[in-house]
Amino acid sequence: MADKKEKAKERYEELAYEKKNYYEEASKKERKAIYAYAEGYKAFLDAAKTEREACDVAVSMAQEKGFTEYHFGDPLAAGDKKYFVNRGKSVVVFRVGTRDLETDGMRIIASHIDAPRVDIKQVPLYEEGGMCFLKTHYYGGIKKYQWTAIPLALHGVVVLKDGTRVQIKVGENPKDPIFYIDDLLPHLGGEQMGKTGGKIIEGEQLNVVVGGLPCADGEAGKKIKYTVLDYLNKEYGMCEEDFLSAELSAVPAYPARDVGFDRALIGAYGHDDRVCAYPALTAVLDENSEHTVLAMLVDKEEIGSEGTTGMQCKVYEDLMEEIAVALGANFRKVRYASKCLSSDVTAAYDPNFPGVFEKMNAAIVSCGTCMSKFTGARGKSGSNDASAEFVGEVRRMFAKEGVIWQTAELGKVDAGGGGTVAKFLANLNIDTVDLGVPVISMHAPYELISKADLYSNYKAFLAFMK
Ligand code: MN
Ligand code: MN
Repeated sequence: MADKKEKAKERYEELAYEKKNYYEEASKKERKAIYAYAEGYKAFLDAAKTEREACDVAVSMAQEKGFTEYHFGDPLAAGDKKYFVNRGKSVVVFRVGTRDLETDGMRIIASHIDAPRVDIKQVPLYEEGGMCFLKTHYYGGIKKYQWTAIPLALHGVVVLKDGTRVQIKVGENPKDPIFYIDDLLPHLGGEQMGKTGGKIIEGEQLNVVVGGLPCADGEAGKKIKYTVLDYLNKEYGMCEEDFLSAELSAVPAYPARDVGFDRALIGAYGHDDRVCAYPALTAVLDENSEHTVLAMLVDKEEIGSEGTTGMQCKVYEDLMEEIAVALGANFRKVRYASKCLSSDVTAAYDPNFPGVFEKMNAAIVSCGTCMSKFTGARGKSGSNDASAEFVGEVRRMFAKEGVIWQTAELGKVDAGGGGTVAKFLANLNIDTVDLGVPVISMHAPYELISKADLYSNYKAFLAFMK
């Protein structure tokens, strides 16, 4: 009897599926590798808070590994290590493999390097109540109230009247000043706190404090504005009109930090989607592959992948075509044989908000990088719904390399939803599936991920490149 029960238990374990916690599965050596890999990632996060900075950092990392810049029309040969920069805001790092491109296609990992933030308006500067402010227009999906009363840094570029491009980055060095969006004190917040979340802080209240020192000789009502303009002119050579041709963003001034006594997690601004972009980048930089592999780090995902630097821009398809042509392959055949991991984050199951998740199909922190067969909203609307065949193929790649991974959908049915760049690549007739790290507090100024999931994502990319 006991024997039968034991056998049934064994057989059940063979037949049933259960997620595994990667930390529990990892050997001591692997756990060390997980923690070590996270150090490089945190440094990347701190150096790359905007898409421009992420692009620059990716390029210098590529150069360090012997990758050189590629321009359309350049000859290519097996073994080449290249990067292609689009307007300083997106970058594709690629290796040319030895396998036949027409039969084998390319292996593409697509992630994004823009993140939700608060952008400075074109006519932003004004003085009121003893302070000087910059008016803003937020970028991406944020809960506006989360961006008040936290330290902010200003990042971006200003193109001066004469065309000179000036870079600005203030608030990251501990000696720098920081910037600030104010909120109402609770003592006077009675009416405010009765409002719905979306109205507690409204868009036009997200004004950034940038000064408070009046110039004695200045005109009344413009004394602090004078001080700020004078500083900007002396420091950057800019005058007020130059804001017209500027791209400045307020981003959280916090560095990435380990979270928890055991340091298993990382808190940071912009995990979405650098927690996928960094593994994509390092996988292609670190490992040789027989395949032609591309890590696409693109811009504008948070506002619909539009524009010249977003995934919907033709330039990425053109690049693939240029590579195919340079290697003497028929582009259509290459495209049809290619495979893509659309690498973006998903929502991790949050025990403090269980109501929006369906736990069996939610990503659990530390259970590995997460495959989403589909994204979208309502009846999978707006989603690339990957085929069982392709999911099966990727599943076998991961199994072969011992990757700990999981599947999930973003929240329970009809709770909300979201999209990624997957559909744009799938539109090229490239088999594509979403794979990315589960995030707690996604789109907040400080998001949370697990080091195990970060490393699992990296390992999954290496398996995909095998
Ligand atoms: Mn994302
Ligand atoms: Mn996002």
